[in-house]
Amino acid sequence: MKKNIKNYNLDELKEEIKSLGEKPYRAEQIFKWLYVDNISSFSEMTNLSLDLRKKLDENYSLNSFKIEKKFKSIDGTIKYLFNVQDEEQNMIESVLMSYHHGYTICVSSQIGCKMGCKFCASTGIKFGRNLESSEIIQQLLEIEKDAKVKISNIVFMGIGEPLDNYENVMNSIRIINNPKGLNIGARHISISTSGIVPKIYQLANENMQCTLSISLHSSNNKKRSEMMPINDVYPIEELIKACEYYIKKTNKRISFEYALAKDNNDNLNDAKDLVKLLKGMLAHVNLIPINKIKDGKYTKSSNENIIKFRDYLNDCGIVATIRRELGSDINAACGQLRRQNMRK
Ligand code: SAH
Repeated sequence: MKKNIKNYNLDELKEEIKSLGEKPYRAEQIFKWLYVDNISSFSEMTNLSLDLRKKLDENYSLNSFKIEKKFKSIDGTIKYLFNVQDEEQNMIESVLMSYHHGYTICVSSQIGCKMGCKFCASTGIKFGRNLESSEIIQQLLEIEKDAKVKISNIVFMGIGEPLDNYENVMNSIRIINNPKGLNIGARHISISTSGIVPKIYQLANENMQCTLSISLHSSNNKKRSEMMPINDVYPIEELIKACEYYIKKTNKRISFEYALAKDNNDNLNDAKDLVKLLKGMLAHVNLIPINKIKDGKYTKSSNENIIKFRDYLNDCGIVATIRRELGSDINAACGQLRRQNMRK
């Protein structure tokens, strides 16, 4: 089977091109066609010889997705359900959000997810496979083409656990970072994890300036294990140790995600435990009103409670903000569209 050309970072692509008997600078030209011009066939690479275009076509593939569904929210958020056009006709979701500082894309990293968080829409659906680097990047390229925008920020908060697909995610970031291509700096890329501790250490040692988000959701092991089975493998103490290492190594602030569920993790005692856990850390807390999934047991906290929770954290010196709910009218949250589509 032909390998997708968008799986190669620039150094790897140079090696590939050399093996075809061509000069390595050709790789830079190809890179520009792929990521700046966003072309969809090798024949469009008009500054390459016909012979090289033919060789590329014979040896490599270029993926494209089919837009299966697209929803536009009144707040400008656009949610895409893509058919990745593989053998299984797998579907993934990506979301385009518009902020005053530019466009952010929320990308998926896997077909489904193995983590089994109880509040998440991907739970209960069979895990498919890891996405290739090319498929992670393709989400961005398809959206830039369709919405006619230039994306400036990426968050790995779509379907899947990015640190469970570590190599492909890292390579996609290397490609996305490259100034000769998409040129999106690591500072504009966030990776969100349910807390795979060994991979957090590995990420810390990469020397990459990505923002790390930790899906914490509770500072109590019993409660967190109920919400997130991964906590039985890597309990809170180990997770926090890994976060401290990440901060020390990268000098970057960590963002802790905390989805507030009514009568579960949203009372003042929970806030107190959270303060104790994070006090003194270079951290920020992102409070998310939980999105109730179909048949799920967790429901959204009241606005009043959410504000109280935030104010308590802020009063105790922990920076906390409430995440704006974008696109809730279009099922933009957390795998809900894919789930809905699979039920049909
Ligand atoms: N697997 C990664 C990234 C994908 S989920 C992770 O766990 O971080 C992205 C974020 O959405 C995580 O913080 C996750 O906990 C949160 N999330 C998932 N389902 C949700 C729901 N129904 N309501 C609110 N947040 C949810």
